Amino acid sequence: MAEYWWICQRCNTRIQKSTTPNNASCPAGGGHRWFRAAEVGNHAFQCSKCQQLLQAKMMPSTGGCASGGGHAWQRL
Ligand SMILES: [Zn+2]
Ligand SMILES: [Zn+2]
Repeated sequence: MAEYWWICQRCNTRIQKSTTPNNASCPAGGGHRWFRAAEVGNHAFQCSKCQQLLQAKMMPSTGGCASGGGHAWQRL
């Protein structure tokens, strides 16, 4: 089963998992709000807004960045 990066659109916590993570206890209040960013791979991408670094197969989706708007991924 493929592994994916899931990122919370409210607190930027991320998790590597094949299925949707549970949405308990977001530090931003309430539950995490996950979006599936990308399949785990060996290319490095960094968001120029929140500096988050992901090792993914391809350009991750913009989703929602906790810094506002969508993530602005750049391949390193
Ligand atoms: Zn969260
Ligand atoms: Zn970001």
